[in-house]
Amino acid sequence: MTLFSNNMNKTYQAMFFLLITILSALVIGASIGTIVEPNTANKKADARILIIYTGGTIGMVETSSGLKNIPNRGTEQLDKYLALYPDAREKIGTYEIISYDPLIDSSNMAPADWNKMIGTIYSNYTSYDAFVIMHGTDTMAYTASALSFGLRGLDKPVIVTGAQEPLAKLRNDGINNLICSLIYASSQKPLSEVVLIFNNEVFRGNRTKKLSPNKNSAFGSPNFPPLGKFGIGFEYNVIVDSRGSSPSTKYQKYWDYQSKFIDPVNYRENVNVPIIFLTPGIQFDMYTDLVTTTRVDSIVLLTFGIGNGPDGNKGFQKFLRTCREKDIPVFNISQCCQGRVEQGDYATGSFLSTMGVVGGLDLTLEAAFTKACYLATMYPGDSSTQRRVFSQDLVGELNPEGTERFELFIDI
Ligand code: ASP
Repeated sequence: MTLFSNNMNKTYQAMFFLLITILSALVIGASIGTIVEPNTANKKADARILIIYTGGTIGMVETSSGLKNIPNRGTEQLDKYLALYPDAREKIGTYEIISYDPLIDSSNMAPADWNKMIGTIYSNYTSYDAFVIMHGTDTMAYTASALSFGLRGLDKPVIVTGAQEPLAKLRNDGINNLICSLIYASSQKPLSEVVLIFNNEVFRGNRTKKLSPNKNSAFGSPNFPPLGKFGIGFEYNVIVDSRGSSPSTKYQKYWDYQSKFIDPVNYRENVNVPIIFLTPGIQFDMYTDLVTTTRVDSIVLLTFGIGNGPDGNKGFQKFLRTCREKDIPVFNISQCCQGRVEQGDYATGSFLSTMGVVGGLDLTLEAAFTKACYLATMYPGDSSTQRRVFSQDLVGELNPEGTERFELFIDI
């Protein structure tokens, strides 16, 4: 018995051949496709990157006495991880690692450690295109700020990163922070400045603060939007210049005048900048004793609200008079971590101006402290220059016109 008539048979035969032809074309096409259309998106990154491993949680390894930093160890996980992704490896340039000995918890860092990092970058400057610093989170915002002032004339990216959980742990944020840092360092248009990369965000280093000891989103930049962020890909926060043909990063302009040649500064290691946090009813006698008995380079005052102090507090008045007599610069930063100091807004702020206190605008405490250290190093004994330069924008650490808020993330 035949299932179909002769005519029906011919129709089904024709359809069968057509189907086979289409399937063969698809199979052959797919295999040829990869040959005739090489994937140009995966162009090999050729950046040479120096990883400087200073210590901190990110590189700690399991030992019989718990997690510890051990020189020349703690970065093996990075190599092992990258070996799992040979194709993605193309996105990352070649890297070499310098491991400090001793590796330190960043709570132990001092200006000498900033100088050590500045020295490592400077002495390797011509051999690498980008620098990634593995660092503890506790004083990372101070280091990022200090490096931004110290690495004058920088025209290569310096990335500071770390982790809340070490690479050696099964679940950790360190691997993502490090991979993001390496991808950023290897990208075509990394910004030539000190950035801090954490939890998928790229921040201007001297605008950062550690906000949480427990969360993966440990850092923020309360007075300045992130420079970029990692999502599925990487996007810069940009402005579109209506006169230009393409968007450009807003932030590069701060560095244009700088990038002639690198001319780093070594911080004076005995720099002494006490920070005084105002509290209601604060007793100032011991601070007045401090400035009369100890060599103090300058003082950072952490004031109330928009930069106000207790103008009716006799001890405070005496303290400021003493600082003025001894020619010690006093800088004013708000206890609020967002917003800016405007000393003229209230009588309690104007009083500070009359006493020669200099408003620190929208500087973070970390940037204010490291800037004061930098100025004491650069202009020792020249308090009027220290006062004048403190409120100037040196490397994008403050905005004289006010806090900017815009976010337009574009993959450029
Ligand atoms: N105490 C550590 C450090 O700052 C914390 C960390 O790395 O997260 O070195």
